[in-house]
Amino acid sequence: MRIMSFSHLSHLDCSRCAERYDADEIHNLCVCGSPLLARYDLGSVTVGPADISGRPPTLWRYHEVLPVRERVISMGEGMTPLLPLPALGREFGVPGLLMKDDGLFPTGSFKARGAAVGVSRAAELGVRAFAMPSNGNASAAWTAYGARAGMRSVVAMPESAPLINRTESAITGSQLYLVRGHIGDCGQMIGALIARSNGELFDASTLKEPYRIEGKKTMGYEIVEQLGWRSPDVIVYPTGGGVGLIGIYKALREMRELGWLTGPLPRLVAVQAGGCAPIVAAFEAGATESTAWPNPKTVAFGITVPKPLGDFLILEALYATNGTAIAVDDTDTLATQALCARLEGTFICPEGAATLAAVRRLRDSGWIKETEEVVVLNTGSGLKYPAEVDVPTLDPGDRLG
Ligand SMILES: *Cc1c(COP(=O)(O)O)cnc(C)c1O
Ligand SMILES: [Zn+2]
Repeated sequence: MRIMSFSHLSHLDCSRCAERYDADEIHNLCVCGSPLLARYDLGSVTVGPADISGRPPTLWRYHEVLPVRERVISMGEGMTPLLPLPALGREFGVPGLLMKDDGLFPTGSFKARGAAVGVSRAAELGVRAFAMPSNGNASAAWTAYGARAGMRSVVAMPESAPLINRTESAITGSQLYLVRGHIGDCGQMIGALIARSNGELFDASTLKEPYRIEGKKTMGYEIVEQLGWRSPDVIVYPTGGGVGLIGIYKALREMRELGWLTGPLPRLVAVQAGGCAPIVAAFEAGATESTAWPNPKTVAFGITVPKPLGDFLILEALYATNGTAIAVDDTDTLATQALCARLEGTFICPEGAATLAAVRRLRDSGWIKETEEVVVLNTGSGLKYPAEVDVPTLDPGDRLG
């Protein structure tokens, strides 16, 4: 019998205990407090790589393994370039260096992957309004897709969040609150607001909502497809909440089960900033959970997450793939951002630059071999961080050159 279905979503599983949930009802966390993961009836998927390759170049080409059943809210997101970085690769001694360039997205960061899928799924489940705390890029993406879906949104952001992300959220008509505090304070205020809303506001906070990870996992599908349905040796990811890394690992395992990918899995690397590195500390201690990082601070605001809710899932993915975790200081990150623009012409975000700085260090230590193929994730455009680059100014009459 041939089962035709846009999505093969079957149910939601708790990532920690054995609870199972109906995927066609609205859910947040499991009763045990852990994130829920979408599961598919992969055995009933009849399409394969050859069918996918003829589809339009958006992340919806993997719709059988995405949770949206009928109503896709799209701005053409996905299938971003997998760029060779030959000059930087030569400089680092890693000739097989590639960058998945997720700077090319509506709202300028890969948060659009999670927002497109998360908002689409919420909309078809009947959600009319959502609320979330955000450091910036997530809010920019969710409020944009929310506006396209005709949803009302409420966002709380630290007052220190980048101006561009405030502007992007405000222009969508989102109800934006700036808070004199950090992301945790914003989360508490949003939590209280949701509790008072009598079910009117959906909690769209990271990992408290099961579907953004499904959007982010398409990074894994795209990398494997763009390499001709095989994995690289190493994938290097700038890790905040770790949703993308957990998603890539989930995608790799799904593709293996589907028979779309054979051979060993790539080693996954979590890159963090020296000023906020709870996963690196946990990895180095051989722990299965992280402890909250005090006074987090880095220019790479997208990875400023002092205690990720999915820390145990990130660490599991690192251990299971013989991966590693490494912290990079802001000075190294910004120098690498400039080097990348100079040698490769591409203006990447600090989070993406941190992965390149990590590649150089891992090559120097021998953890990455010269012959290995390494894919780094650039998760956003440098255009979103204009304040991090100094440009000297001359006075009239100064001598040029
Ligand atoms: C949110 C964000 C990250 C981290 O994403 P996670 O998958 O939650 O770890 C990395 N880079 C940028 C630019 C981001 O906005
Ligand atoms: Zn549970």
